[in-house]
Amino acid sequence: MNANEQPAPPLIFDRSRPGRIACSLPACDDVPELPLEDCIPASLLRKAPAALPELYEVDVTRHYTALSRRNFGVDNGFYPLGSCTMKYNPKLHEDIARLPGLASLHPYQPKSTVQGALELLYTLQCDLAAITGMDAVSLQPAAGAHGEWTGLRMIRAYHESRGERRTQVLVPDSSHGTNPASAAAAGYTAVTLKSDARGLVDLDALRAAVGPDTAALMLTNPNTLGLFEEQIVEIADIVHQAGGLLYYDGANANAIMGIARPGDMGFDVVHLNLHKTMSTPHGGGGPGSGPVGVKRLLEPFLPAPLIARLPDDSFDYDHDRPLSIGRVKPFHGNFGILVRAYAYIRSYGAEGLRRVSECAVLNANYMRSRLSPAFHMPYSGICKHEFVLSGSRQKAYGVRTFDMAKRLLDFGFHPPTVYFPLIVEESMMIEPTETESKETLDRFIDTMLQIAWEAEHAPEKVLEAPTSTVVSRLDETLAARKPILNCSCDY
Ligand SMILES: *Cc1c(COP(=O)(O)O)cnc(C)c1O
Repeated sequence: MNANEQPAPPLIFDRSRPGRIACSLPACDDVPELPLEDCIPASLLRKAPAALPELYEVDVTRHYTALSRRNFGVDNGFYPLGSCTMKYNPKLHEDIARLPGLASLHPYQPKSTVQGALELLYTLQCDLAAITGMDAVSLQPAAGAHGEWTGLRMIRAYHESRGERRTQVLVPDSSHGTNPASAAAAGYTAVTLKSDARGLVDLDALRAAVGPDTAALMLTNPNTLGLFEEQIVEIADIVHQAGGLLYYDGANANAIMGIARPGDMGFDVVHLNLHKTMSTPHGGGGPGSGPVGVKRLLEPFLPAPLIARLPDDSFDYDHDRPLSIGRVKPFHGNFGILVRAYAYIRSYGAEGLRRVSECAVLNANYMRSRLSPAFHMPYSGICKHEFVLSGSRQKAYGVRTFDMAKRLLDFGFHPPTVYFPLIVEESMMIEPTETESKETLDRFIDTMLQIAWEAEHAPEKVLEAPTSTVVSRLDETLAARKPILNCSCDY
């Protein structure tokens, strides 16, 4: 497009009327007005004014309010998106994150003026080490996948410090999709391990795969089928005996927090997803936090700086880490998210965190058992915080999991994760979390049972869904590649 050509006007522009404004500016005082050309080179100046809509404040307010109502989030409905832990984010933690003493800090302030913030970070490092059973924690990584990459970089540095060049990372086929991706990004070859019939790591396959090339095993636990690896101690032994290290994808810690610790299971590195387990707002690519915890043998390689407590009980940055893999994020990670996680841990306390996991597991099992008469459950037995069902029975009537997910929209629910994990046909991965009431769980279950009935007796209802949303079925690939960002709002 050349500079004089205007893009097609979005519909908010239809409401524009020349001369309408949403604010009134005071007249200029005595500051002399310089010609624009004196401030900005002529070549950079617009030739014509920007084509902005001219509107009253009330029109602008209604426009953005209408858009916000089309957004779906945990604050307006049940959001059982498996693996994403879309639990409710208590508003208390938002208030705390907005306290001026935390929200208005600058990372370049002298450390004597930010002692409280450093103490908060230090305490959070200690809390997360205690929760995971690790010896040291870095708060820098900005997401789960970033924590994985950071952990693998440390594993690489560890092997290299011993003069070893191991090339492979073993990844079960029930792992989260970021695991093989992080292994590749850290320069390793990801080797897939097949699960056994129960959906767990097959020990014989593991024994056959480990060897002198094994840098690490990356284990998602509970795995993406919502199952706890029962033989985790044997798994850890097999990998350690081959000289490999053990990486624990702890993004699903909502199932085990306060009950079991990766460090006690023999793992050397773990990441947590604070934006999932510790209830900070996430989704839409917002800021996350994926701290990594390590055992002593990896501590020298942690990203620098850590936050240290000095003998006089003041706090400082610990930059003196000659073997560190370096920084993985400017400053100290996503500070606002770390504050919310700190508040979460403080407000629940140790007992409360354990109760969170117990209720998350209870809710998932309640839902799983009430849905099992109507849907195929590929793996039997108790699940952890989430479970995977298969839409294979409904597929026989010509209704796919995709259609059932769309039908849920008509009832005001965000659909669960679909077609993941890949190892279950027509999979639907449901994670209710602990923050929902029994009434909400029942309403969702009843809706799912109704959809299963419709699939059999009135399939067109499911195939035509959604009918209650602003748009119905989109070409999702096209919508992602070429989004139409203007909108026609009816208000
Ligand atoms: C969400 C998740 C990840 C990735 O976390 P991001 O913050 O999205 O990068 C990794 N592993 C598991 C098991 C997850 O659920």
